Order: sequence, then structure tokens, then C-alpha cells
Amino acid sequence: MTQPQFDVTIIGSGFAGLCMAIRLKEQGQDNFVILERAQDVGGTWRDNQYPGAACDVPSHLYSFSFAPNPAWSRKYPTQPELYAYLRRIAKDYDLLRHIRFDHTLEAADYDEQHACWTVRTSQSSITSRTLVMGNGGLAEPKLPDIAGVERFKGKTFHSSRWDHDYDLTGKRVAVIGTGASAIQLVPEVAKVAGQLDVYQRTPNWLIPRPDRAYTGLEKTLFKALPATRRLHRNAIYWGHEARVMGMVLNPALMKVFQKVAELHIRRQVKDPVLREQVTPDYTIGCKRILISNDWYPALQQDNVSLITDGIREIREHSIVTADGTERDIDALIFCTGFYATENPIAHAVTGRDGQTLADAWVDGEEAYLGTTVHGFPNLFLMIGPNTGLGHSSMVFMIESQAELIQRLLNDMQQQGSEEIEVREAVQAGYNRRLQERLAGSIWATGCDSWYKHKNGKITALWPGFTFQFWLRTRRYRRDDYSFSAVPVSPKTATA
Ligand code: NAP
Repeated sequence: MTQPQFDVTIIGSGFAGLCMAIRLKEQGQDNFVILERAQDVGGTWRDNQYPGAACDVPSHLYSFSFAPNPAWSRKYPTQPELYAYLRRIAKDYDLLRHIRFDHTLEAADYDEQHACWTVRTSQSSITSRTLVMGNGGLAEPKLPDIAGVERFKGKTFHSSRWDHDYDLTGKRVAVIGTGASAIQLVPEVAKVAGQLDVYQRTPNWLIPRPDRAYTGLEKTLFKALPATRRLHRNAIYWGHEARVMGMVLNPALMKVFQKVAELHIRRQVKDPVLREQVTPDYTIGCKRILISNDWYPALQQDNVSLITDGIREIREHSIVTADGTERDIDALIFCTGFYATENPIAHAVTGRDGQTLADAWVDGEEAYLGTTVHGFPNLFLMIGPNTGLGHSSMVFMIESQAELIQRLLNDMQQQGSEEIEVREAVQAGYNRRLQERLAGSIWATGCDSWYKHKNGKITALWPGFTFQFWLRTRRYRRDDYSFSAVPVSPKTATA
């Protein structure tokens, strides 16, 4: 082989993939390709088209710092608005010509001899010096393994694969799950369904959603005087950062949030039985805090039932709960979340010595700064292990990671290096400290959540302020990595 075809291959064209591509272009790098499994950009905001889909991080923070949008219509962006924003970004930054749509990643193998990746998709095979995984932290729908689920003969779909051709009007509908997706779509489905059964395994803490439309005056100001928009964004940013005090530094502080959530239940739920059913038994913040004004009212509609008995089995046209009750349904909507850990894509990425990411992560996902993994040279993850947030905007983390990756790529170029790999001891020490910090966090106070690997290790979340992550990525130490001009043996890369 002479040179690989591409310097950089990016998987995915959501916030992460687009951000990486923009950074590359800013640096004058044009020899990159984006492989996208769908037919459009947008990632999670293209996929999650269920009725009521919106973000629970405010618009001015949940958008690129370098591509502000003074015209956000509301405090919290809706899915159509975010999707349109990302489509516009792809066009404005001239990224579309770099994207190969309908290319699903099937396998990525590191070629040690040539220090490059061979990437096979559903349509082609390419070689690339480096590989950036911008495939998203919550992109692979998880379906429940409930007995008999495969026998169901009615309509089924996952919240992130909404079937707009199926009309729910007047139908008997069941929703399984009561997480962030369910609390948004249930109030909408309740408006049209004949009967809606909501199956709850664990209640979530909810606080009011302080949403509102921006006034014309605000939008004009944000556009005419960008400093006002920046001030607004900064106020939102620091307001959210303050939550870290309770989540990581002193979980007892979360009691304030819990009082707000308890009051929310008392105000919106009159029936004592329902109150008890929707009140969680864990400290607020342990699972993701949800925000909604219409979830509790929806549960009290005449055509809606909250079912808290465990599901025993699913039959051809019904669901049977542990108490033996059988409820007939026409449609079954899974709001059962995503593979935030144990993402199947980890089986498709093979590094040194034939080891896949899934092999390396059998005891829980690990990386250095959520971005590089020992044993996987020239591979960069975005929204990798322990970069998720329980309190603020993932777009901030994505920007920090894209900048780090860009710096590492620049360093490779400056040193005439063809291979970069994080040192084993650096990654191990970093993760040891990370887990020590997480052990005292709110997420470790005794609940089950998608933040954790099945062995209980918290592998999804960053335990700190987002500016700490930003500082870590800006001030990274070059010595933490081994750079080599020619492929090295695994021994050379250890500390
Ligand atoms: P989720 O929060 O993981 O919720 C999944 C739900 O399904 C939980 O209630 C879970 O119960 C239940 N469940 C899973 N398997 C089950 C089974 N076998 N039987 C019964 N119930 C089962 O998933 P999500 O609602 O899709 O949200 C995932 C994440 O996406 C959110 O936390 C958030 O980060 C993001 N999101 C954000 C927004 C937003 O910004 N507004 C909207 C949607 C999603 P248990 O709690 O008992 O496990």
C-alpha cells in the first residue's frame, strides 16, 4: 500500500461528526470523508422524530459556540428546530460533499503494518490514516428482552424509530418505559390514542420545565448585539455548572432539587395512590433528572393508565402483568432507551492484535479523556467513555473533544508521525482517579441507570465541571501519547 486514501474518516454526521469536520476544514484539511448510515445529517436529532421530541438543555447552550443562532424560537429547542440547525450547518460549512450517505459501518480494522484503518461499510471499503468515531452516545436503540415480545402481532416501534405512517388515533397503545423519551411522547400520544397504558418499572424524579418562547425583541437584540446573546449563553452555562456541586462534590445539596420535585408531584398529582406510584425511592440526580410540565397531567387523563406491576409476558395482541392481568393493545411503543454502554458498534472496531473495543471493554468502557484508547492507535472517540453529562450541554464536550483531536492530528503532522497511541499507564491512572471521584458522586448512591456498565461501574459520565474537561483537553500532555514514524510493536507503546 502507498498512502491511505484519506487522512481522516469520520463515522456519523450528528453534532460530533459535523463538529470534527468543521475543525478539520478550519485547519485547511480537506482529505477526509464522513460515513453516514442514514440519508441525511443530524444524528440523534434526525432519528428522534417522536411527537413532542425536544431537548432539555437550553437552545443557546445546546448549539455550537462558533455557530450561534440568535433566532432560536424557544428556551428549549424542539427536535425540528435542532434538526434544521444541523442541516444548515452541514450546508453552510460545505460539508455535504464530504459525506457518503447510506454507508453503515460494518468493520474497522487497524492495519499495524501500514499504520492505518481499513473501514468497510455496507457499500464500500476505504483506507484512512485515522478514524474518528462520531457515532453518538445514544444512537443504538435498546429493546427489552421481555418474554414473548417477538410474538406480538400488532404494530411496534422504538421511540427513536417513529413510524409516522402508522396512525395512533383511537388505538389501544402501550408504552414501555418512563424515561426522558417517554415523558415527552406520552402527553402527545395521550391526545389521540383511544387507550394508553404506560408501563413503568422505576419512577423518575421530575422538575418543572421553565420553557417559553423568545420574544421578537430578544431575538432582535441577540442578532444586533451579539454580546447580549453571549451574556445569555454564559448565564445558562454557569447556572447548569452549579449543579455539579450537588452531583459530584456534595450529593446532600441535591436535597434542594428533591424538594422542588416533591412539590411538583404534590401540585400536579392529587390522587395519593398515583403520588406514591410516581415518587422514586432514590436520591434525585442518581438517574437523569427529567423536566416536564405535562407528564403528570397526562397520566391523569381518563384514557391513560399508569401500570406499575411488572410485565410477565407479551402475547400476540396483549401484555400480561405479574398479577395476571391481561390488557389488549394494537400498538406497542418501546421507550426503553439506548446502548449507552456495551454499544454493539464496539464489536466492529478492531485494534492491535485482533482485539476489538468490545474485548477491551469487557469490564466496562475506558478511554483517556474519553477520546483515545490504548491498543487502538490512530483511533479517536467522540462522546467516548466518561464524557456524558447529567447537568449540561454535550455540545460543549463535543467541541472540547474535537479541539483535542485536532491538536493531536497537528502534533502527528508536525512530528512526521504516522501513528499515535495513548500510553497504557496514562490511561489506567486517569481512569483510576476518575472512578475514585465517581464513587462519591450522586450517581453512585444506589440506583440503576444507563450511566453504568452492567457490572455497576459508571462509564458514561464525566465527574466534574465541563470547564475542567475543557481545561484537561486544552492542556493535554504530549508525553501521554507515543508518536511513531513507523508502526511499532505493542511493547513500545506501553509506559
Ligand atoms: P431511558 O432514560 O434509558 O429510559 C428507558 C426506560 O425504559 C426506563 O424507564 C426503563 O426503566 C425502561 N425499561 C427499560 N427496559 C425495560 C424493561 N425490560 N421492562 C420495563 N421497562 C424497561 O431512555 P430514554 O427515555 O430514551 O432516554 C435516554 C436518554 O436520552 C436520556 O436520559 C437523555 O439523556 C436522552 N434524551 C434526552 C431528551 C431530552 O433532551 N429531552 C429526550 C429523550 C432522550 P428503568 O428505569 O427501571 O430501567
